This record gives sequence, C-alpha cells and structure tokens, in this order.
Amino acid sequence: MRFDIVTIFPRMVEAALGEGILARAIQRNVLTVRARDLREFTEDRHRTVDDVPYGGGPGMVLKPEPLFKAVEAIREEVGAPQAIVLVSPHGRRFTQAEAGRLASLDRVAILCGRYEGIDDRVREQLATEEISIGDYVLSGGELPALVIVDAVARLIPGVVGDEDSVAGDSFSRGLLDYPHYTRPAEFREWKVPDVLVSGHHGEIRRWRKRQALELTLVRRPDLLVDAELDVEEQEILRELMEAKKGAAHGRD
Ligand code: SAH
Repeated sequence: MRFDIVTIFPRMVEAALGEGILARAIQRNVLTVRARDLREFTEDRHRTVDDVPYGGGPGMVLKPEPLFKAVEAIREEVGAPQAIVLVSPHGRRFTQAEAGRLASLDRVAILCGRYEGIDDRVREQLATEEISIGDYVLSGGELPALVIVDAVARLIPGVVGDEDSVAGDSFSRGLLDYPHYTRPAEFREWKVPDVLVSGHHGEIRRWRKRQALELTLVRRPDLLVDAELDVEEQEILRELMEAKKGAAHGRD
C-alpha cells in the first residue's frame, strides 16, 4: 500500500515514519509513504502556499493551485490515487471501520491543511473524501494524516508482526481489549489476577472475554450494538446483563 502525503511540513511527517512499526514496514517495503512538500508545487520565487481570505477575516488560507499540482504530480508518477483524503474537522469521523476500508485500497493521497484551512475548491473539486480524527481543532493536518496512516498500516498483513495481536485490538470486533499484565506477578503489593498465573488456558480465555465484555458494557455500551460475539461471549454478556439487572433491583 502506498500513501502520498501533501504537506508544508514534510519533515514532521518523515520524523514520525522513522520510528517503530511504521519504520519497519517501510523498510521491508510492505508500506510506502511519501511526504511531498507543497512548496515544490509553487511557481513564484517565494514559494507561496497561502494567501489572505476573500471577504476578510483573520488568518491565511492555503491556495488551491499547489495542491492541484501536487495531486497531478502524484497521478503522473504513481498513477491515480483511489482516494484523495482531505483531513478536516468537517469530515466524517475516523474509526477502526474507516481504517479497514482504506486498508483495502492500494494508493491513497492525503492533503494536509494549515492556517485557517484550505481553499474550498480543493474540497469540492479535488478531494474524494474528508476525514476528521475527532472533535477538536489541531494546527495542521500532519498529525491527522499520521493517525490515519498508522491505524491503516496496522491492518495491512505483515505490518504488525503478530496478526493475532491486531485481531484482538480494541474495536476490531466491536469490543474493547481486555487488560494486559506482565512481570512481576506482584508489584508494590499489587498482584496480577490469579487466573492469569494459573496456567488454565480455558479459564484465562474466558476471563479475558469477560473482562473485554464488562469493560465494553460499562465504558462503551454503544459498541455492543454491532459487536461480533461468539457463543461463549454471548453467554457471558447475558450473565453480565443479568448481574447488572440484579444489582439495579437490589437498590430499589
Ligand atoms: N478553521 C478550521 C480549522 C483549521 S485547522 C475550522 O475551524 O474548521 C488547520 C488544518 O488542520 C485543517 O485544514 C485540517 O487539515 C487540520 N485539522 C485540524 N483539526 C483536525 C481534525 N480534528 N481532523 C482532521 N484534520 C484536522
């Protein structure tokens, strides 16, 4: 899979790509990510990428021409991207399901805004979709682009060493992940749950499922509506709901 990220801060993007799982995937050619400097697609001596807003008001706006040129250069070099994503607070909220959808594509371009935003003709005429990473405003699209690349890359086979680890991650089946522990078994008087050191694989599996379900039921019941549960999980969930009902009655 290949990402082309158009930004005025390519080094910011490259720095994040140089560490950890993403760096390894790039090194092994499972993933290609290219940060493209928007200023290279300007034609004036000052390499101007922004200008004042029509109608007045504060701040600067990214000009359309360099962004259109950048996408044209990407098209010429590597072929047309299957998605041209504009990262923006106005976009559809990014979720694990959205990450899965993008992971099925081969070539994705991401356009990063800065300042007050981007000339709206880029959204209308160039971008194929708009994605927001959450209801807050950042100073630029670089962190959102990196969030998207990271979440999508984890879903590409071969990027995360252990496929089971991705399958068990929060949201992958509509459940939050169960709690994890490592050595020592006792740390400052706080013990690891007994079942985890018991060696009973069946019980460990059931404990983890119960923890994941309970955590999801308490923190994010909204996720359970679309969760894909196996028979054992459905049974545990029923028990948990009964217990909850019982507790509610007890209070009456
Ligand atoms: N004036 C705009 C915010 C501009 S922030 C508004 O109020 O909607 C500058 C750039 O940062 C945006 O163009 C976008 O590319 C990026 N950005 C900021 N917050 C974001 C978010 N939550 N998700 C995705 N991109 C975001």
